Amino acid sequence: MAAPRSAQAKPAVSILRYHQVGYFAAPRRHRTCYCHVRRFRSQMNYLKSFDYNVISLDEAVAGLFDDRPLPPRSVVLTFDDGYEGFHEHAFPILAQHGFTATIFIVTGLVGRCAEWLSADQVKAPLMSAETLCELHRAGITFGSHSNTHPRLSGLSVSKQRDQIFRSKAVLEELLAEEVRHFCYPYGDYGRQTRELVEEADYASALTCLRGAANTAPNRFEIPRKAISFGDNLVGYFWKLHMKHQRKVQPADR
Ligand SMILES: [Zn+2]
Repeated sequence: MAAPRSAQAKPAVSILRYHQVGYFAAPRRHRTCYCHVRRFRSQMNYLKSFDYNVISLDEAVAGLFDDRPLPPRSVVLTFDDGYEGFHEHAFPILAQHGFTATIFIVTGLVGRCAEWLSADQVKAPLMSAETLCELHRAGITFGSHSNTHPRLSGLSVSKQRDQIFRSKAVLEELLAEEVRHFCYPYGDYGRQTRELVEEADYASALTCLRGAANTAPNRFEIPRKAISFGDNLVGYFWKLHMKHQRKVQPADR
């Protein structure tokens, strides 16, 4: 599928994909699921020092698909799953720089643990409703990451519909605000999944396909760039500047 010409002609937008930020020993597997606080701090310092524009997901989607202006060197910060550790470890660093971010919440597990993680991963605590509302008041955007974090494409249409529609309604009730963005758990989706997300009236959906957001074939299949535990500043620079082309295979998970 060809990318929209207008989006390709715009300045490149990198949507970065993080999961947990905290203090971790080097993991052997699932390296894109962890970012050490020290690395995260230097990555945010890097964005600040080199005049990147950290924009909201709303601004990025409006710029790419609704013909609104996009600043040069645009970066969107996204955090999947809504880990409780975000509040303690990532948020103070973001606040220090005045950076905004989008967190994707598994609405059926608010205040519980990441039960879907594999046996070799610690089933980390997920944000409570109180933390979520506090961060929302502080300017963080929230999107839906389904109700229970399943692989959506393997579910019946009615089960997919429930995951996509109900999570939006639950989060909107909690935040008293429209929830505009969806993120596919595991980056897994099929044609029906994508159509249901559109029918539910989301403004965008993010995948785990790698590339600049400009290479999205439509607003419901937007690529991102995963930041891995091993990314030092050289690797970070490389991801921001180079890996713009769309890679068809999902990266890592
Ligand atoms: Zn996830």
